Amino acid sequence: MEKLMQFNYLYYKLSQRLSTFKDWPFLEDCNCTPQKMAEAGFVYQPCESQPDVAVCFFCFKELEGWEPNDNPWEEHQKHSRSCRFLTNLPSWETLTLEQLIKLENERMNNLIRKVDSQHTAEFEAKVQEVRIKLQNL
Ligand SMILES: [Zn+2]
Repeated sequence: MEKLMQFNYLYYKLSQRLSTFKDWPFLEDCNCTPQKMAEAGFVYQPCESQPDVAVCFFCFKELEGWEPNDNPWEEHQKHSRSCRFLTNLPSWETLTLEQLIKLENERMNNLIRKVDSQHTAEFEAKVQEVRIKLQNL
């Protein structure tokens, strides 16, 4: 979660997203190359238990379990239909300051929703843990 907080506006730039795909397992002869992943809005966020996690910098949808034939753009659409990145997001080179401010407002709302749902899930897991302990007293 702390890693998500480090997602900043520089990820609007394709080259910044692409630079995160070091040691990405799918490089050649497949659909989900680093270039295609970055073009579809993803940033590489591996962790020990999930080495192929990619996160959209805009909607913060996390996807893992990539297969070589997966099309990153289609997978993004399938799992996050309302992501603004998939609509008419202007490229970094043509983005105006006014557009960037509006988009950042929306992106930060997405981040808050994501962090909130993670906190809720963690809290519910702890509640369940305590409930089991109490039942076993
Ligand atoms: Zn997205």
